[in-house]
Amino acid sequence: MASIITLLAICLPTITLSYIFFCLASPWGTCTRCRPGGRNRTCRACDGTGKRPRLGWQLYANARRFHR
Ligand SMILES: [Zn+2]
Repeated sequence: MASIITLLAICLPTITLSYIFFCLASPWGTCTRCRPGGRNRTCRACDGTGKRPRLGWQLYANARRFHR
C-alpha cells in the first residue's frame, strides 16, 4: 500500500510537468465539438476556426492576466 502512494507521489508531478510542457509546445488543440478536421462555422467553442486553446493554456492565460 505504501509503495502505491510513493509511486503516485513520484508520478503525479511528472505527469503534471509533462502536461504543462505539452501545453506550451502546442497550445492549440483541435476542437472536439466540431470533430477533428471538420470546421463548423456555427461552432461556438472555436468560432469556426476548428482550433481551441487547451485547458492548461487557458488557465495559464488567466493566471497571467490576474497577475497584472
Ligand atoms: Zn469547433
